[in-house]
Amino acid sequence: MKTMTCRQLGGACDLEFHASTFEGIAAQSKQHGREMFEKGDEAHLTTMNNMKAQMATPEAISAWFEGKRNEFEALPNNII
Ligand SMILES: [Zn+2]
Repeated sequence: MKTMTCRQLGGACDLEFHASTFEGIAAQSKQHGREMFEKGDEAHLTTMNNMKAQMATPEAISAWFEGKRNEFEALPNNII
């Protein structure tokens, strides 16, 4: 299992996500983002808007994902 925080994934808080694959982490982050969006959390809405502005093209989106995937792969694997 590896750990990444909301902030590491471009979010706005230090909530930790745990998964053994990047897809797992990304899914948890997405779910959390949706919850924060529904709550109308100001900090998360701001970071989401910034991310949306950065990800204007499919190329930018995949570049962002690849960057985060590399970060994830470089993390130490905690044996739980
Ligand atoms: Zn968050």
